[in-house]
Amino acid sequence: MPTSGPGDHQLKRIILPSGKTIEVVYFDRAAVSGPQVEASAAQPAPAPADTERELHVCINCTSTLVYPVQWEEAGPKSWHVTLRCPECEWSKSDVFTQDQCDRFDDELEAGTEQLSRDYKRMVTANMSEEIDRFAGALEADAILPSDF
Ligand SMILES: [Zn+2]
Repeated sequence: MPTSGPGDHQLKRIILPSGKTIEVVYFDRAAVSGPQVEASAAQPAPAPADTERELHVCINCTSTLVYPVQWEEAGPKSWHVTLRCPECEWSKSDVFTQDQCDRFDDELEAGTEQLSRDYKRMVTANMSEEIDRFAGALEADAILPSDF
């Protein structure tokens, strides 16, 4: 409720859910007249969507390669995440619970580890092939000083 209004601003005292009281100075009279300021302050965080859903699974093609394009905090225990499926190009932004995001994070980490393991295996295989070819060329006297 407005407490005073000297000049072109008004002071408003707001009690937060924690019990703390803050004073807000309004310079625009129109902003003070409506109750929308209190309503928006008391508004709960957006409700999470289907809380059991696994976020790495595409709801369009069931691929398990869905990854986050963007995420930001939506509330104390929820996240606003934009998801994308690389196989069918499905994409959606929604709010998900902390538990869902933790499980999603574990999946993403497991995927990163798997990619890293595959990469190391491929590098080793390629180098092994290269070494065999080089050894064969040495045995055949096909390597000359001018090659270096
Ligand atoms: Zn998909």
